[in-house]
Amino acid sequence: MTALLDAALGYAARGIPVYPVHWPRPAPSRASLACSCSRGPACDRPAKHPLVRHGVKQATTDPDRIGRWWHRWPQANLGLATGICFDALDIDGHAGLAALRQLQQAAGPWLPGPLVATGGGGWHHWFAPTGLGNRPPRGLDHVDWRGKGGCVLVPPSRHLSGGTYRWLIGLDQAPLPEVPAALRQLLDPNPPTTSGLADPAGPADPTRPPAPGHPYGRRVLAAELAALDRATPGHRNHTLNRCAFKVYRYVAGGVLDEEDVTLAFTTVARAIGLSAAETARTLASARTAGLANLRTVPAPPDPSRQEIGP
Ligand SMILES: [Zn+2]
Repeated sequence: MTALLDAALGYAARGIPVYPVHWPRPAPSRASLACSCSRGPACDRPAKHPLVRHGVKQATTDPDRIGRWWHRWPQANLGLATGICFDALDIDGHAGLAALRQLQQAAGPWLPGPLVATGGGGWHHWFAPTGLGNRPPRGLDHVDWRGKGGCVLVPPSRHLSGGTYRWLIGLDQAPLPEVPAALRQLLDPNPPTTSGLADPAGPADPTRPPAPGHPYGRRVLAAELAALDRATPGHRNHTLNRCAFKVYRYVAGGVLDEEDVTLAFTTVARAIGLSAAETARTLASARTAGLANLRTVPAPPDPSRQEIGP
């Protein structure tokens, strides 16, 4: 089973800590698969729990230790520590996919990043690490988040069902995207608002002073990124300029972080096919124009200036 060891060493070479996990093997009856642990068919986490005592805490990038592990357990599944090089959105089957579609309708299309089909009929979307821990996104059923302290199984691990984890979009095919603002909002342990799915970034809160990450700014950013993602060939560069200009105006107004904005637009622009040079040039121009035209959170209505009827 050198494919498993090779894959483990490949993840480690990218700086992602790896650890060995139990695997599915033929049950005594031979009619089905069972966990490789001593509980066998009675295991409650078959082919998903660690072979090493402290699990993901022992995950390592040390090729010698990885070599010893897969020498001892050549068929071990591969677990990776999340929250260090990447986080993962765990979509559980078609129910999870339905919840994700609901989010995408509210938040705009998903940015294409590395994507794994799990052996059990689910998907893992990989994202740049957020610093957040494991928690389900609020309001999304059958969807989970793996961040700091978490772990995921990765290709070419095998599932109890007989399926194999496989890459749909590989690590060399797409960069790790930032988490879309609307999803990030659902993961935030201290949400600034209690808005639901219909408006994931939350309504403008005029009582909150403008500051980078203000929900109003995040909502503007998410809307403009979605508009850029929908741009058709021939209009992409113009759309990037128009959308980024609008958003940089809010950077000038202090409600969004400039680096966040530039990174988000660069990611989407590259994903829809604009070249790196074109993207950088257009963003620089949009930034200059936007920063010179400050906009901020809309002011609340001032009761003292409300007109009194006749
Ligand atoms: Zn087991």
